[in-house]
Amino acid sequence: MTVWICRTCAVEHADTAEPPEVCAICADERQWVPAEGQQWTTMAELRTADRKMAVEEVEPGLFGITVAPRVGIGQRALLVRTGAGNLLWDPTGYLDDDGVRRVRELGRVLAIAASHPHMFGAQVEWSRALGGVPVLVNAADARWVARPDGAIEPWSGTHEVAPGLTLHQLGGHFPGSAVALWADGADGAGVVLSGDTVFPNPDRKSVGFMRSYPNLVPLSGAVAGRLARDLEALAFDRLYGNFGGVVPSDARAVVRRSADRHAAWVRGDHDDET
Ligand SMILES: [Zn+2]
Ligand SMILES: [Zn+2]
Repeated sequence: MTVWICRTCAVEHADTAEPPEVCAICADERQWVPAEGQQWTTMAELRTADRKMAVEEVEPGLFGITVAPRVGIGQRALLVRTGAGNLLWDPTGYLDDDGVRRVRELGRVLAIAASHPHMFGAQVEWSRALGGVPVLVNAADARWVARPDGAIEPWSGTHEVAPGLTLHQLGGHFPGSAVALWADGADGAGVVLSGDTVFPNPDRKSVGFMRSYPNLVPLSGAVAGRLARDLEALAFDRLYGNFGGVVPSDARAVVRRSADRHAAWVRGDHDDET
């Protein structure tokens, strides 16, 4: 079977004799297609290269999964452990036997979920490797699924994966953009896994709110405010993005301050500084 993988975003596509003409996710204004045109690879081809997966503890109960050399956008997937089972979040677009074995060693995976379509990765391939676990896809973004499968389960609003581990649809970057709230994280102060829903900046004390990160299209001040309000309703102190970025503490206040700053700039409050 051929699992076509878009080289740019590493999202898997359905098994067909020829790859699709274009990856819809990359042709969308939030992503990009290379100057030389749409590029495809396959899982089999990726596995012939000298590629390695790493599974490393980020904090107690949370593990980061990376692939080197990187595949597609190159996100760091996250695995959250709970007493009832685990969540694989923003799955990588590549997996191999060694990586799957290490994920299995950390306990039973209850579900796979992505924060939004850019992070779908090889979610169905992961599901099959883990024994057919459900792939949770927010219903508002279901049209971006390029590899339909019986393991895919739609959800919307909020969804409990396990006690103390819930998905929250906040929208913004995509209508179905979500975060995962892990109550036991940060020594019980709570952790949010934010994907691109809000993006932890390199300064570790602010976050961004964008429709497109690579093409730099901002969300409105009203939507940034809505995201901050919805996040303020959740109990958390730390926030992890999908590329290793983190707001280590006081993250709820950081989100609020960042949303206020974002709104002020897009409203024109600081135009005299430009
Ligand atoms: Zn793509
Ligand atoms: Zn994105």
